[in-house]
Amino acid sequence: MASSSSSTGSKSGQAAGPVRCAVCGGESRQPPFRPNPPEQPPDLDLRPGEPLRSTMARWLQQCPHCAYAAPDIARAHPAAAEAVAAGPFRALVAETSYPPLARRFLAWAHVLEETGALHAAAEATLHAAWVADDLNRPDLAAEWRRDAVALWRGGPNLDAEQTVRVIDALRRAQAWEDAAVTAEALTATQPSSHVAQVLALESRLVAAKDSGRHTLASALPPTFPRPHVAQQRVGRPAPQAGQGGGLRGWLRKLFRRG
Ligand SMILES: [Zn+2]
Repeated sequence: MASSSSSTGSKSGQAAGPVRCAVCGGESRQPPFRPNPPEQPPDLDLRPGEPLRSTMARWLQQCPHCAYAAPDIARAHPAAAEAVAAGPFRALVAETSYPPLARRFLAWAHVLEETGALHAAAEATLHAAWVADDLNRPDLAAEWRRDAVALWRGGPNLDAEQTVRVIDALRRAQAWEDAAVTAEALTATQPSSHVAQVLALESRLVAAKDSGRHTLASALPPTFPRPHVAQQRVGRPAPQAGQGGGLRGWLRKLFRRG
């Protein structure tokens, strides 16, 4: 009767024993993942810098029995099992024209979308695009960035920081007109200074039809990655770019579990 250990995936229970899938109940070994924080600045879409950047194969667990994928497969939304059993999910995880790691992120994105977490689904879809970037598949990367934008726009209203990421996804997918119009609309709202700096860079890149990867450091050169102590003045809050709430908050959102 008394269960001495429950595999809820919480705390230390995950490291040693098998993980029990919250969707099908099947057990599997999942290596623990304790990421080191990035030392390099993130891309404009907040893809983290190294060393975290190269660890995408470890970001999600995937059940070898039912293919449910999640940061922690011992946990699942009550509606996840139905989504995993349904035709679209089965077709997705069997889609051999997609790289396996990208399929894993898309599988998680599909469950998130089916359970109503559209912004988290957008995030996971963007992660699939990053996998496509690494595998030099610009066709898939552009397709999944457009999908991510649709999911972001299908969810609740986006704040200014997330809207910049939508603009970046549109730019990387070469959706120039949509990127330009979205950037103009955000500029008109007079966003905060660090958003405005990134937005200014995005607008320049869109005008130049530059769909390449750029880092936040190129948008925020004076204060990233470390605040300039010399620029601090008595009576003003210390500059926080690189260390502070905004960027760190964005990174937290990256790994927020659905
Ligand atoms: Zn399973």
